[in-house]
Amino acid sequence: MEPYRIGIVGCGGRMGRMNLATIAAAEGCVIGGGTDRPDSPIIGSDLGLLAGGEALGLIVGDDPVELFAAVDAVIDFTTPAACRRHAELAAQAEVVYVVGTTGLAEAEQAAIHQAAIQTVVIQAANMSLGVNLLQAVTEQVARALDADYDIEIVEMHHRHKVDAPSGTALMLGEAAAEGRGVALSDVACRARDGQVGARPRGEIGFATLRGGDVAGEHSVIFAAEGERIVLTHKASSREVFAQGAVKAALWGRGKPSGLYSMRDVLGI
Ligand code: NAD
Repeated sequence: MEPYRIGIVGCGGRMGRMNLATIAAAEGCVIGGGTDRPDSPIIGSDLGLLAGGEALGLIVGDDPVELFAAVDAVIDFTTPAACRRHAELAAQAEVVYVVGTTGLAEAEQAAIHQAAIQTVVIQAANMSLGVNLLQAVTEQVARALDADYDIEIVEMHHRHKVDAPSGTALMLGEAAAEGRGVALSDVACRARDGQVGARPRGEIGFATLRGGDVAGEHSVIFAAEGERIVLTHKASSREVFAQGAVKAALWGRGKPSGLYSMRDVLGI
């Protein structure tokens, strides 16, 4: 059987490099190619060396059309604008498309839904097993408790992160809202500053911290009179996200087209 070729868009990024190294070490797949922005200094670099191993004779390109034509799956941790274009290409080439990029606006998310009509798309704001379990637990706890328990979601990430609250924090907020039987958009308070008044009952609040090299920390707090439940996940390395992304790419092989989540991949 031909090796399963996985391509990486944005392969010079923090996650892109980690994804390359993870594919190189994984069973059942090979690095099929990689791209980055045309002005990136890594264009022309050998993908094997970028992955931390031997030279592969495959270089980082700047043409996603060429990449999508040459691989079976693509993993995308880039930017929302790039994602929109990549989703169209994934649909045309009918390759498995794994989307980890966060902060997508409505039109960019619509492009993901559109692509999933024609191909297998797996999208998760967080690809780690731990966070996906936390999501399931958050939904259950929110279902068990009433609005006497104020829900607050606190996250911290490294200083380079550009979107806030994190995609994972919003995903946890969605899970809490789902458990409580409300729409997150009706109850979310994404930031507070100044004379905001007392906390409305039923609100789901978010707090964002940025600094240093933190890979990702999330806590969901259920606070009532007299007690507080805190569910926390801490990622100490980006490796967990890359392992999830590669697992998703392998899982997607041969599946019917559609939009899947990491919970589908992990069976939880
Ligand atoms: P980064 O800035 O280090 O990397 C992004 C890379 O994409 C860069 O190399 C950049 O040059 C490249 N890029 C930008 N536009 C491109 C284009 N048009 N074509 C090809 N490459 C392009 O960022 P990062 O820390 O690796 O994070 C990337 C995204 O992944 C963010 O949205 C982040 O929130 C998300 N993320 C998700 C998870 C998850 O588990 N789902 C985990 C970590 C990060």
